[in-house]
Amino acid sequence: MSVSEQATALMVKIVYQLRPPATTTMAPCFRCSSPSPGGQVCASCLDDDLGGLIRNRGAAMRWLTSVKQATKDEQTVLSYARKVEAESGLKSR
Ligand SMILES: [Zn+2]
Repeated sequence: MSVSEQATALMVKIVYQLRPPATTTMAPCFRCSSPSPGGQVCASCLDDDLGGLIRNRGAAMRWLTSVKQATKDEQTVLSYARKVEAESGLKSR
């Protein structure tokens, strides 16, 4: 596997590890023992791997910060969507 392919595979794993705690069972990361979905290696440990792989930890960390922010924003958007659903459910039915 090329470095690009490995980096892509790692980023997919990291995004998967960032899913909201409510949708999964949290258990200690087996590398740093901070809470991680399914007790798999957590997003920040995987991001260390990514930084090492591409030989640029700064870029890997910046990407992780952006993804975390995007995940948060996505949840905010969905919470407003549910609010609209709840309100329209009350008014139209
Ligand atoms: Zn960890």
